[in-house]
Amino acid sequence: MREVHPQVLAAIGPHAYAEVMAAVHAHLPPPPGPFTSLLPPQGVKLTPPHFAYLKISEGCNHRCSFCIIPNLRGALTSRPIGEVLGEAERLVAAGVRELLVISQDTSAYGRDLGYRTDFRNGRPVRTDLDTLARALGELPAWVRLHYLYPYPQVDALIPLMAEERILPYLDIPLQHASPRILEAMRRPAASEQVLARIADWRERCPGLVIRSTFIVGFPGETEADFEQLLRFLAAARLDRVGCFAYSPVAGAAANALPDQLPEALREERLERFMAVQAAISREKLKARIGQRLTVLVDEVAADQVIARSYADAPEIDGTVTVPGPWDLEPGDFIEVEVTDARDHDLWVRPIED
Ligand code: SF4
Repeated sequence: MREVHPQVLAAIGPHAYAEVMAAVHAHLPPPPGPFTSLLPPQGVKLTPPHFAYLKISEGCNHRCSFCIIPNLRGALTSRPIGEVLGEAERLVAAGVRELLVISQDTSAYGRDLGYRTDFRNGRPVRTDLDTLARALGELPAWVRLHYLYPYPQVDALIPLMAEERILPYLDIPLQHASPRILEAMRRPAASEQVLARIADWRERCPGLVIRSTFIVGFPGETEADFEQLLRFLAAARLDRVGCFAYSPVAGAAANALPDQLPEALREERLERFMAVQAAISREKLKARIGQRLTVLVDEVAADQVIARSYADAPEIDGTVTVPGPWDLEPGDFIEVEVTDARDHDLWVRPIED
């Protein structure tokens, strides 16, 4: 690589934080003291100041046939819980109002470390997802968990969501509902069991919002498989759904599967899938008209404010629009009443108690 790009100063593998820091310090020595440092104590991040992504692990132990992340990032490597909590506390102290917990497989957090005990502020803390979620839930910020694999650990999070210690928002990529296709994808979870679990989660946490992602047009997907997926969608009535038409990724095992579908068919299934989900989303959002919500302000313009509720992760879900000029700042929480709804977004008016 150095022959082609002589300006590259160091080449380092994944997870090698110490080596990265050593290389950075070798080429850009740290300033001698806090009064000369340009970096704030919470570090530098690329999101607006009021929300931040909190990465808890890197890599993945699964081998989904359409994915090459394990090849690129390696096996699951969890960050020690004390380090994660320290970063979260610094971010919140710096003004972050929403922490978005991310990883390739959030539900597996700590498994590679044997869920070992770490320390935070002199107190022992177990490196597992339940402990992490409880500790983050004590901070004065929204906590949103992304990318939960459908493991039993997810069930243990529902009481924390019902008590609103963390946001009642489950981002659980399901990918398909046909057992044949899930097997070809090397994914778990029969759809009947998933439907029963969704019903149980909703019973225990009635405000729960479930987000998922799916792939349509996977190699070998028949019309019957696809219709099974549409029936699952209609039965599950998920709140937020992303969908991709399958496309091969260089190096993925699925490339070698027989019965690859033509692009036109993959795109047609994507359109049919999204039409079914748009109708579900529209109905669910219409049912929110008249409800009161707490929303987090993202942007303030001269004629409107753009915000999000607990049901909306930034960038991927809907928005909540407050028409009119309001004296608000990004990062403010306000109470609103829902006045209108479209396929994915809400319109509201502020409530002044
Ligand atoms: S799709 Fe997700 S769970 Fe599957 S191998 Fe890739 S990163 Fe892991």
